[in-house]
Amino acid sequence: MNNDKTNLEKKPVRHILSLSGGKDSAALAVYMRDRVSDMEYIFHDTDKELPDTYAYLDKLEDYIGKPIVRTTFDTTFDTLLRQYGGMLPSNHRRWCTRMMKLKPFEDYVGEDPVINYVGIRADEARVGYISTKPNIEAVFPFREDGIDYDGVQKILAESGIGMPPYTEWGRTRSGCFFCFYQQKIEWVRLKQHHPDLFEQAKAYEKGNRINGNVFYWSKNEPLAELERPERMREIEERWEIQQARETQNRKNVPLVTTLAGLETNEAPSSGCLICHL
Ligand code: SF4
Repeated sequence: MNNDKTNLEKKPVRHILSLSGGKDSAALAVYMRDRVSDMEYIFHDTDKELPDTYAYLDKLEDYIGKPIVRTTFDTTFDTLLRQYGGMLPSNHRRWCTRMMKLKPFEDYVGEDPVINYVGIRADEARVGYISTKPNIEAVFPFREDGIDYDGVQKILAESGIGMPPYTEWGRTRSGCFFCFYQQKIEWVRLKQHHPDLFEQAKAYEKGNRINGNVFYWSKNEPLAELERPERMREIEERWEIQQARETQNRKNVPLVTTLAGLETNEAPSSGCLICHL
């Protein structure tokens, strides 16, 4: 008889919903509020989120009537960055997610049996973070109940929570203000709406300790270049052309395709699910 397993079976199952500050996990919190009474709501706070995100979580906390537990890691982003030799995280060096989101989640859960509620929608092909820990089982209520992008918007509108405030100024995702998944236009918007945070992001672009190479957040373009007025204008103009093209394409999409939820008006994204859901 495996004693560890026997002990695990005796423990009550915990229900945990991780919030990212994004619309899908917020809508899931609203959706589950009256369905699972002993839900624990958590947010993996990197201390590098937008002020908009913190305000949105406060609003959500009032609605669900329970505290959203802020999990923290035992150091800071700046210390981690030093430990990684000054190499900024990127799509290929995603130590940020591992150290600031995944590890705090698994530490918070411990060895307890857990059902983890994940806000992937019915119209998404994404695969969520599924812990390899045997005591964590991920479930996808929106997928199971056929709730798509429009459904999420409806849930948020009817609850009065609404979409995350950063969407008003053109940002599409939650997560760290310097997230390397941002599109160029989102960097322009960050510069326009949170110039102080843009400056902070820019200050991180300097030679690393290991080989002296400079890493940039936005592919190979330094933020010092991107913020030049003529470059920002160029990015905005390109974005407007792209938007017009996408609107035209949407008009040409047969209604049945739109209804099937294959068109979501969302920016193309391969972002980090635990940060951006
Ligand atoms: S939001 Fe971006 S920068 Fe922050 S932890 Fe997630 S992937 Fe890393």
